[in-house]
Parts: sequence; structure tokens; C-alpha cells
Amino acid sequence: NHLQLTEGKIIYIHPTQYRMFYRCTIPMSLPALIKRIDYPVKGFYPEELTADIIRKAEIAIIDIHWNYALAGAYQLVKDLKELNPEIIVIAGGMTASMYPEQLTQKLDIDYVIRGDGEIPLPALVNAISEKTDMTHVPNVFGKNGLVTEWSYFLTSKELNKNEFYDLRFFPSYQSDIRKIHKRHFGWPNYTFPYLLPFRGCPMPCPSCAGGIGEQKKLFRRGYVVRDAEKLAGDLSLLNSFKDIRFVNVIHDFVSLMPEDYVNTALSTPNRLSLVYEFTTAPPPERLERLFGTFRRGVLYFSIDKMHTQSDHLIDPSVLINLIEKTKKTGRFIPVLYYNSTFKSNPEYVKVLNAVARQTRCLTADVSGWWEDFPRPDENGIASPESFSKFFDLSQKPKLSVLTKLKRWLVFRLYLVFTFILPDVLLLKIKSAYVRLFNPYLQ
Ligand code: SF4
Repeated sequence: NHLQLTEGKIIYIHPTQYRMFYRCTIPMSLPALIKRIDYPVKGFYPEELTADIIRKAEIAIIDIHWNYALAGAYQLVKDLKELNPEIIVIAGGMTASMYPEQLTQKLDIDYVIRGDGEIPLPALVNAISEKTDMTHVPNVFGKNGLVTEWSYFLTSKELNKNEFYDLRFFPSYQSDIRKIHKRHFGWPNYTFPYLLPFRGCPMPCPSCAGGIGEQKKLFRRGYVVRDAEKLAGDLSLLNSFKDIRFVNVIHDFVSLMPEDYVNTALSTPNRLSLVYEFTTAPPPERLERLFGTFRRGVLYFSIDKMHTQSDHLIDPSVLINLIEKTKKTGRFIPVLYYNSTFKSNPEYVKVLNAVARQTRCLTADVSGWWEDFPRPDENGIASPESFSKFFDLSQKPKLSVLTKLKRWLVFRLYLVFTFILPDVLLLKIKSAYVRLFNPYLQ
């Protein structure tokens, strides 16, 4: 009496996100969640789906992690259900978790998994397959009125079990990643692979959904740490993949974790390039350890102690020392991140200018990162008004022919810069642009 979930019966689709630069930006833990499902899952981009694929599928899993995915998910579910009204759609991710009612009512999604999905997702798929009672599956909000207790949240033990780097389930994504690693001169941010020392962040930054305060509302837990030995194993695994040339680290364990954690995680040198974002100033000897572990890279320093979210400035002499050390390696490029929303603070401007001028370091204004995002209440639910707002923002933009042409040209130029010019040159051009046109640094 079981549903036979053989090849092709479970599909994963990454919805179109019009505001993301690359189509291959998927949530970092998604491959690990898919790996936990007991049945074969095949991944697709929406444009790859055919009527045959949709009609054959019993279950469709979609990620709605960033709010950019809302409109794309709406269209996707509509298309799926038009061709296959029986298909069961499961959604998860940070944004899905905040809008379970809207997703089940307006987007016609059958089940939303709230919070962490490591245990609930495979358990829900098993319950669908075995046609058993779903009330024992935690964190589920169903269109059919089923709402189970939100009792599951990730632990270190479970985080340690995650396998983040197997992309075979999603061939076109794997192919995108291979192309980026093959053709890119350097190390683009926000594409696979990432090193994940923690889920959630130990810092309390107010405008970041990863901050400890927001994580408590969104996931009912604080930050969760992956063991240092596991992290060392992740690096060694990535080092063994011949197609992988770089690794991204946007969870700053080097500054935030205890010394022995850092030493264990970075115990073995590898051939990988590194993109690393510091939250605050790392101790100099830890910086040296990064230099000793990776081949080359770009290191993004923050001017303040909260990853550009505050005007609690780092002592300029400390920053200057770290940046000079980085430059001296000849293998690592330092970039100084700042946030122009603090430009009314004269001390902020003074320190930024002093550090940038003395080190002749490349700079980048990242104020654009901290735009608005849906903020949930204590129960992890965001307001219906915010749903409408973010749904509208995620729609395909209506552009005039001229704007489309401009974007097309800018995108081509970006590709030329990114894939043809070496990174050092690219960063120097960017920096020159900032120095010429941004009055903030004058
Ligand atoms: S340090 Fe960075 S990732 Fe962590 S909460 Fe602050 S802004 Fe978010």
C-alpha cells in the first residue's frame, strides 16, 4: 500500500529568484537536506521542467529561503499543479517558515516545514510514502489543517551529520558550479562551496537574519556549531575535488571561535583559494594560520566589530597591521568593507579614510546588504503586510526596453570583468571607481 518513490517521483526545484545574480545561488544546507531523504531526488531549475517530468512526480520539494523566491515559487507551484493536480508540494527555508499560512493558502503549497528541516523533511517524505499518520512529524504546517508541534531544532550532533558537498542529485546545478570554478579567474562570493562552522551566528547584529536574536525567533535555537574536526574534514574533502578551486567562508570562525577550534579546523594546508569575510579583527596569529592553510585568496576585513553593522570601530592601528600583513603575503588581497549609512559619524569617516589611505587598501561599501527583510514575531511569524510587500518585491521587474538593454550590457561587462580579467585587476578597477566617484572617501 506504500507509495513507491522510485527515480523521478520526488523532484526538487529551485524557484526563479529575479533579484539574484546567479541562478545557482541555492541555500547552503540544501544539498545536505536532500541527502537525508531515503528516496532518490532529482533537482531541476524551473526552466528545465517538462510536462513529462511534472506528470511523473509525486512530490515536489522547493526552497523558499530568501524572500526573493516568493513570486517565483508562486508561478512554479501554479505550473506544477496545472499539469499534475495530485502532486504534493513541500516548501521549507527561512521565508517559508515565516509565512506558513500565506504559502499554504495563496501559493497552494501542501506542506511547509518550519525552522530547521534536517529531521522533519525526511520524516514527512517517509510519512507520505508510507501513507502513515503525519502528526508525529515535527514542525509541519499543512494546507489540510495539519499543524504539528514545532519541537525540532538543529543540534551540533545533527549538524555534524550533514554532508554538504554532494551535488549529484542536481546535474545542471553541478554543471553551473563546475563552469564557475573552471572559468572564473578567482573566487566569486556566494556560490558553492561554503565552509559551515555554524548554523546561525554567535553575533547579535540587528539587521541580519543570521544574528542570534533573529535566529531564536526563526529557528527556536541559538547558533549551532559544527565540530572543528568535521570542518577540517570538509576542507580535506573539498581539496580532493579536482573541479573545486575555491571555498567561501562567510561564517567567521577564525575571529569568533576559541583558539583550539581554529587550530584544529585549519590543521592541514590545502590547494584551495579562499574568500573570507571577517566579522571583527582576528588575532594576528590566526590570520597567519589562514595564510598557511590556503593557497591564495581575498580577505574582507570589516571596519567595525560587527561585520559592518555598527559604528563600534576597530582600532585603526590593529586594522592597518592586519591589512599590511595580508598584503605582504603577495598571495592574499585585503579588502576593507564599510557601511556608508554611518557616514554622518565623523569618527567613522576619519578611521575609514585613515586606514584606506595608509594601507592603499581596496574598499567596498556594503550598505546595500542590510536592506529590509521580513522580521518575524516571537512565534516566528511575519505579518501579512510584509508578505504582500516582499511578494511584490520578488516579482519579475517590468523594465523599459532601454533599461533592459542597459542591464544586458552591464551583465556582459560584468561577465567580461569577472571571467576574463584577473581578480587583482578587477578589484583595482572597482577600487578606482570607488575612489573616483564616491565622495565618502574624500
Ligand atoms: S556577524 Fe555577520 S553573519 Fe553574524 S549576525 Fe552579524 S552580520 Fe550576520
